[in-house]
Amino acid sequence: MIRQALVEATQLLAPVTDTSRLDAELLMAHALGISCQDLLLKHLDDPTPEAFGLFLNRRLAHEPIAYITGTRAFWTIELQVGPGALIPRPDSETLIEAAIEHFDERAPARILDLGTGPGTLLLAALDQWPQATGLGIDASEAALGYARANAERLGMAHRAEFRLGDWTDGLAEPFDLILANPPYIGTHEQLPAEVREHEPASALFAGPDGLDDYRRILPALTDLLAPGGAAVLEIGWTQAKAVSALALQHGLLPAVHSDLGGRPRVILLT
Ligand code: GLN
Repeated sequence: MIRQALVEATQLLAPVTDTSRLDAELLMAHALGISCQDLLLKHLDDPTPEAFGLFLNRRLAHEPIAYITGTRAFWTIELQVGPGALIPRPDSETLIEAAIEHFDERAPARILDLGTGPGTLLLAALDQWPQATGLGIDASEAALGYARANAERLGMAHRAEFRLGDWTDGLAEPFDLILANPPYIGTHEQLPAEVREHEPASALFAGPDGLDDYRRILPALTDLLAPGGAAVLEIGWTQAKAVSALALQHGLLPAVHSDLGGRPRVILLT
């Protein structure tokens, strides 16, 4: 019975995750193809579906929930994700909030997302500003496959172009809003097993101090920013000083924004 299976799974999952009961419910709802709410309200006395055991074993091997369910909510949209694409984090919504604050009553017309992964920041921004169009760049074909499918499914394919690329190489047109969540983890930093063993290393690690990709991206931004525009970059919470200094060297004015946990998470550059 589902009620009992949830209790047992919660116990088994305790060493793997801080949210063991929630994880068990999400996997059960996914196995049944229903929402968590429906599961809890209507199905606790049903027989346990066979797929639940398979999903539970994957989670016990530290596979992220979003890869098992194949989906993750971000800002106002739902994105399909899987191995090869960085899973959207709630912290990254700080970038969209900072951009909204910058544009205020105005709206960006052209948006660039560097290292777009499954299309996370670009598609959230296009949902926020329905008249805007944008370009998402990534060095991973696998990630771009998710991005294109997400744009299609969200009805944004006519407003979102995705291209394989190396940061800003080959870009010349100006953008009102440039978004980027580049890799920023130092090569020797510790990460939880579910991140280290399952998410793409190329989206996480950026040299010994985690700053390698900011050193690539920042020099190119001044030429790509339209008048009145802004570049909004995610940072690791210890990197605000270093990235601000780099930005100033390249003629950009930095402002730091914090995430919901109160940690510096975003540098907005004008
Ligand atoms: N915030 C992510 C993590 O800590 C890292 C994402 C990134 O490097 N851009 O797992």
